[in-house]
Amino acid sequence: MKILFSFIYILLFLNSLCFALDVRVLIFKGRQCTVFSSYGFRRLSSDSFTSKQCFYKTKDGFVYLNNNPYRGHICVYKEKSMLLAVNILNLEDYLKGVLYNEASHFWPMEALKAQAVVARSYALYKILHSRGRYDLDNTSSSQVYSGVNAERYRTNKAVDETSGEVLVCDNSVVEAFFHSCCGGRTETASELWKLDLSCLISVEDEYCKDSPHFRWREKIEKGRLLSILHKLGIEGSSLNSFSIKEKDDSGRVRYFEACTEMGCFRVSGKKFREKAGPDIVKSLLIDAIELLPGYVLFKGRGWGHGVGMCQWGAYGMAKAGMDYKEILTHFYPGASISSVAEISKD
Ligand SMILES: [Zn+2]
Repeated sequence: MKILFSFIYILLFLNSLCFALDVRVLIFKGRQCTVFSSYGFRRLSSDSFTSKQCFYKTKDGFVYLNNNPYRGHICVYKEKSMLLAVNILNLEDYLKGVLYNEASHFWPMEALKAQAVVARSYALYKILHSRGRYDLDNTSSSQVYSGVNAERYRTNKAVDETSGEVLVCDNSVVEAFFHSCCGGRTETASELWKLDLSCLISVEDEYCKDSPHFRWREKIEKGRLLSILHKLGIEGSSLNSFSIKEKDDSGRVRYFEACTEMGCFRVSGKKFREKAGPDIVKSLLIDAIELLPGYVLFKGRGWGHGVGMCQWGAYGMAKAGMDYKEILTHFYPGASISSVAEISKD
């Protein structure tokens, strides 16, 4: 019996070694912050702060920045008269602070597990490719992370039940992009970015129709549309027409055509969406554009860039009884599941 316990203990120890991979997350940038750590309460100001200091957990197991609890420890750096606070913690603990922000904890467990593998793959990709003081920030430009406050029973369970699992494609971990709703078909990554991965290609999705963003309509005032076009270098003060010039294979707009009194101009769909704002032009899967008195009406489908996993599609697939591996291999065709330990040893 004693031998059996020793064996289990060694297995658990080896397992913990495999996944003892830390991630560095930028959680604050500014001139002043407060830290509560094993050293007690400190108020930090960029005026008096020297180059670097690290803070460790209090007796309750957390370290606090601006009253918010975090796992792991926090290092504060001074850079160009600003303070940068970086939370260094175990990758699995980090994911527990992410998942609730990126998916509803009431969603089906298999959809949450798919999201956990996607978030872990994205984070591992960043860890392996980052330079500098941190791997990710805590905003939607990386993944939204808010420490212990974001932890919930079901999202933590989804992280635990997929512990260490990541998506691999073309022999490397996938920078696993995801988006809210694809509107019926996902996008090929190389249409948007200099990224040509065989598993980041367009696939059909019949499961995201429950999304409130599956179909959308948005009005943009003509004056505002003109000012967006001016920012893209298009000349003219009156808009005669605005239409779809060219679509890519997924049906998304590659180019619009804008005609003013100065002539007709080709406008990149991607750049137009960036300038207009992703909340206004929710996606480039636009079915129709109508020029009406005073404004232009866009009718489209989906929300987001459309690359990788459609979150509402994952929700629909899970509700239809599919498991997280089926969801992942649908949205990342050809990808397989490997482990953080396997990838990190290379
Ligand atoms: Zn979809």
